[in-house]
Amino acid sequence: MGENKVGPDAPAAQGRHPLLKLAANRALLIALVYLLLGMLWILGSDRLVEAMFQDPVHVSYAQTWKGWLYVCITALLLYAVLHRLLCSEAAQALRQRQQRDDLDLLNQFRESIIDNANIWINVLDAGARVTVWNKAAEQISGYRREEVVGRDVVWDWLYPDEAYRDDIARRVRTILDDGAEVEGFETRIRCKDGQVRTMAWNQRRFFSESGGIGSITIGQDVTERKRLQDELERMAVHDPLTGLLNRREFEDRASQLLAACAREGSPCCLLWVDIDDFKSVNDRFGHQVGDEVLLGVAGAMRAAVGGRGITARCGGDELVVALPGLALDAACAVAEAIRRQVEAAALLAAHAKGAALTVSIGAAERTGDSGGLAALASAADHAMYRAKAAGRNRVCRVADAVDPGATPGG
Ligand code: GH3
Ligand code: MG
Repeated sequence: MGENKVGPDAPAAQGRHPLLKLAANRALLIALVYLLLGMLWILGSDRLVEAMFQDPVHVSYAQTWKGWLYVCITALLLYAVLHRLLCSEAAQALRQRQQRDDLDLLNQFRESIIDNANIWINVLDAGARVTVWNKAAEQISGYRREEVVGRDVVWDWLYPDEAYRDDIARRVRTILDDGAEVEGFETRIRCKDGQVRTMAWNQRRFFSESGGIGSITIGQDVTERKRLQDELERMAVHDPLTGLLNRREFEDRASQLLAACAREGSPCCLLWVDIDDFKSVNDRFGHQVGDEVLLGVAGAMRAAVGGRGITARCGGDELVVALPGLALDAACAVAEAIRRQVEAAALLAAHAKGAALTVSIGAAERTGDSGGLAALASAADHAMYRAKAAGRNRVCRVADAVDPGATPGG
């Protein structure tokens, strides 16, 4: 930027500015012209006077008047030159003052826009110290301008976690040092009142007129948007009543698990869980109690499965579990744990003395020649129907024969 500077304070190494040289040359030219005209006048007028007058008294008068005439003419010329010069200087000074006023106005306007914008704006100097901290930054963070301007301590307050803060500081340094730009970069800040908010940042480097480096940051509080987004994402993959995965998500995830198990050569099982006589629960106690029962069964399933697999509600009173890495025996043990948990939960006890709520479960294992998830689900579903046919409240595996007299858990 320095090489573009125009003005008398340009570096001495570069010599005088061409405009200054031009002005000096013009002044010299005017002086030389004046000298020449003066000489011509003196020579010419003296000759004329000598030619016109012989009487020395007349010559002396003529010389005096000639002198007066010369003074008048040069005074007029001097007036014309100075008038032009001083008027143009005054006009330039006026223009500069006007420009300064305009600039002041523009700065006030800019400052008021920055201050009143309803997005967080802050400016940092080369040492990452805050130089501008607008009202929105105060409102969101809770830290007042007086607390943060001229210091870099606010980053310790906003990012109390040292590793997280160091990571962010590194990014800011690349902006200041390398001119990297950041757009939509999200961080979590801890506000003065202890609340954690999510901010999306745009940040870029700038050069001040004096050549200093800084960065301007614009931040948007996206906490609410993020919460809604997370909520929408959660709703898209979960069953709203039980909080288990919904059918579509289960199919996606279970297919991936199946494929991974097939690649690794490890087993994978599926449990198909159906509530026994659920229709009658609705009929006897109402739909709301039915919903509570569904929620209770889902909770019992979650507890019994733990981290060993994924659970989902496929619709109605049908629930499903995928158990990667478990062979059929181990999967049946999980199914039995579910059956027992549901039974022990006595989900209808509060509504009717002795009323039992049970589930029937079918278990199937992926075999080398079986198809994908649909085939495995169909096998588990069939096993579940056999459990129903065998008297309900039991676990049936794919190969089990229907035995209506079998005891629960068999
Ligand atoms: P089975 O032992 O043969 O399974 O008998 P069931 O009565 O459970 O029969 P089925 O599984 O076909 O019945 C499913 C019932 O689940 C039918 C429907 O009224 C009820 N249901 C489906 N979705 C909901 C729900 O979201 N809330 C409630 N309360 N009931 C539901
Ligand atoms: Mg049922």
